[in-house]
Amino acid sequence: MTPGIGVAILGSTGSIGTTALRVLQRHRERFRVTALTAFSNAQLLREQAAASQAAYAEIVSNGRAACLVEAATRADVNIVLNAVVGAAGLDATLAALEAGKRVALANKETLVMAGHLVRGAMERGGGEIVPVDSEHSAILQCLTGRRRQDVRRVVLTASGGPFREWTPAQLEKATAEDALKHPTWRMGRKITVDSATLANKALEVIEAHHLFDLDFDQIDVVVHPQSVVHSFVEFVDGSVLAQLGAPNMELPILYALTHPERIHDDALAPYDPVALSPLTFERVRRRDFPALELGIAAGRMGGAAPAVYNAANEQAVAIFLEGGMTFTDIPRAIEAALDGASRLPSDSREALLSADRSARALVRERFA
Ligand code: NAD
Ligand code: MG
Repeated sequence: MTPGIGVAILGSTGSIGTTALRVLQRHRERFRVTALTAFSNAQLLREQAAASQAAYAEIVSNGRAACLVEAATRADVNIVLNAVVGAAGLDATLAALEAGKRVALANKETLVMAGHLVRGAMERGGGEIVPVDSEHSAILQCLTGRRRQDVRRVVLTASGGPFREWTPAQLEKATAEDALKHPTWRMGRKITVDSATLANKALEVIEAHHLFDLDFDQIDVVVHPQSVVHSFVEFVDGSVLAQLGAPNMELPILYALTHPERIHDDALAPYDPVALSPLTFERVRRRDFPALELGIAAGRMGGAAPAVYNAANEQAVAIFLEGGMTFTDIPRAIEAALDGASRLPSDSREALLSADRSARALVRERFA
């Protein structure tokens, strides 16, 4: 077996997956790609497997949904980069943590829908989660080497998405094509729509709650259209640290692999404060983008509510992208699904998957 830290990439054909392969290609002396999975693009997966010499490469849509867990728990895998989109990533995250692996987590939906189960798996198996999401990577970088009790709060930055300046009347008419024109980030379709509704920021608030053990009152959101400040951490003496850089996922992916260490990488352009200026900040228009408040409320409610929020959102976004629902119906569908969510059981994977399925069915029946 060749030496190096073994990395599995779940969702290798996506935006994060292909970016990660580019990063890993530059660091072959330290890491080797041992396993790849994708949903459907068999041709690209074959090319990736050949280029990276991964021992394992599997396609989910061949009736091989189990390949995610298989790849995540292989003996030659030390780090699982979960870059699958949506609730489909849950079992692989749980299995990797139970098996004691590091999970470099892009698939935030996993942590949102089942934060308490994920924590349990981590405690039992000795695995750890290191976030890939740029905001959470920024917070982790600001917190590393510091005392947890010295943190007063964190402020997540949000680009505001393509509709930051749209009026409520314009939002009613927004199309999928409009929503897919993100001003600062190039990402997969689902997260790009989530950035337009601000559901992505709600998922990230819940993600921060679980990752850093923060109360919801300790997590704030500010709009920052340039996406250069990736988030802030405020300490008890009033000092504020931030992590900055051009919007590019290569650094957060690399850091999730090397944390708490850093390694040389000259591929990213040096930070130029003048070229990237000015940096501006705005309050969130919470009333016009209700998916944010709905998500934070679901997070506070706990239990199955975050899983319901996530599932209703995934289903609504899929219908919206097919042209079957308006943009402003996305938060309406989420709100309808959340009604009664607090009474659903949430103590097991099966309970959460059942809450997930009912939320999707409700959205399809009432809004498609
Ligand atoms: P994407 O749609 O570009 O890629 C998704 C990948 O997952 C693809 O390889 C696809 O084949 C695979 N996949 C899709 N459905 C699947 C299923 N049901 N089962 C197994 N595999 C499946 O998405 P992305 O933009 O790369 O995002 C991936 C995750 O990373 C999401 O959770 C997203 O929120 C998160 N994230 C992405 C970015 C970004 O810059 N793209 C930034 C932060 C967080
Ligand atoms: Mg993010």
